[in-house]
Amino acid sequence: MKYIDEFRDREKAAVLIKEIEALVSTIPLAKERPLNIMEVCGGHTHSIFRYGIEGMLPKEIDLVHGPGCPVCVLPMGRVDDCVAIAERPEVIFTTFGDAMRVPGSKKSLMQAKADGADIRMVYSPMDALTIARMNPDREIVFFGLGFETTMPSTALTILQAASEGVTNFSVFCNHITIVPTLKAILESPDLHLDGFLGPGHVSMVIGTAPYEFIARFYKKPMVVAGFEPLDVLQSIWMVLKQIKEGRADIENQYARVVPDDGNAAALSAVAEVYELREFFEWRGLGSIDHSGVRLREPYARFDAERRFALPNVTIADPTACQCGEVLKGMIKPWQCKLFGAACTPETPLGALMVSAEGACSAYYQYGSLKAERAGAI
Ligand code: SF4
Repeated sequence: MKYIDEFRDREKAAVLIKEIEALVSTIPLAKERPLNIMEVCGGHTHSIFRYGIEGMLPKEIDLVHGPGCPVCVLPMGRVDDCVAIAERPEVIFTTFGDAMRVPGSKKSLMQAKADGADIRMVYSPMDALTIARMNPDREIVFFGLGFETTMPSTALTILQAASEGVTNFSVFCNHITIVPTLKAILESPDLHLDGFLGPGHVSMVIGTAPYEFIARFYKKPMVVAGFEPLDVLQSIWMVLKQIKEGRADIENQYARVVPDDGNAAALSAVAEVYELREFFEWRGLGSIDHSGVRLREPYARFDAERRFALPNVTIADPTACQCGEVLKGMIKPWQCKLFGAACTPETPLGALMVSAEGACSAYYQYGSLKAERAGAI
C-alpha cells in the first residue's frame, strides 16, 4: 500500500477484524480471561479512539493504554519548575503547544502567560534558537520534553548553539527514555500483560533491538506498530498470532518507517549530548531508575537546571485524581470519579486530559463503545 487512505480502508479493516475474531477464538487463555495488550505510545491511543478500534475488537481482547504520552507523565513539580523559570523577567520561555495547559500545583504555563510571563509556543527547538539569536539581551529557555522521538532535535539544537557560541540559550531537559519504563511496567505486580504494541515514532530512532529483553526475559510478544487503523489492527493480529503459537518475539509491522537498526545520526547526537539520570519522577508511576536524561558536562552551560535556581519540589497529584491507575491500565479513564465532571479537556485536573495523546482526552473526545455500554458517556 502506498497512499494514506489505503491504510484506512473499511473493507480491509472488516477482513482484519474477522481474522482477529477467528484467531482469538483458538487461544485457550482467551476463554479464561481477556487478553491484555498494551499500546505503549500515546499516538496509538489516539488512533484507537479516533477510529473506534477498541469497540470493533472481540470482548476477549482488552487494550491497556500505556504511559507513552510524554506530556501526560510530566510530574506537577516539573511544571512548577517551568513556571518558576518562565516568570523570571529576563527569560523568554519557549515550548511546544501541548505542554501549555498541563496543570502545575499553582498554575499552568498558559496561566503564567496570562499573568504576564513571556512564554512563546514554537514548533521546534531550532525556532527557540532563532529567538535566542534575535534577542541577545534575553535568556531563552527551551522546554525539552518527550521520548527518544524528540530527543535528537533538542540535541542537534544544542550542538548548533555550541558551534555558534550562543550564550543566551538553554534547555530545561525533561526528555525521558522508553526502555526503563517498559521494564518498570513489566515488573509491576498490578499488571498482567499478554503483549505489546511497540511505539512507532520512538522506534524510528532507537530501532527494534532495545526491546529484545521483553521477549527474552519476560516472554512477552511485541509488535512495533504504525498509526493508521489497518496498521493497528494488523499489529494486534500479529501479537495474537504469537500468543497462539506460544512465541515471544519482537516483530516490526511498521517496517516502511522503522529501520531495525534505528537512525544512526540521531543516536549519535543523543549519545554526544545526554547522559542518563540516576532516576526520574513520572506522574502516576513514581520514580523510575535511569528513565530520564540530562545534559553531559561539556554542555552544562546549556542546562537551564544549572543556570537557574528552581523550586525542585515533588508535588503529589490531587487525591481524587486517578491518572496513575489509568496510566498503569488498572482502570479505564471513564472509571475515574473526576472523568467528564470535574475533569474535562477545558478544565483538566490531570495531565491525561490535556494532550490529544492522553487516554482520558481521547476517551472524552471520541467516546468508547465500552464506556457507552457502561453508561459512562
Ligand atoms: S479523568 Fe482527569 S483526573 Fe481522572 S484519570 Fe483522567 S486526567 Fe486524571
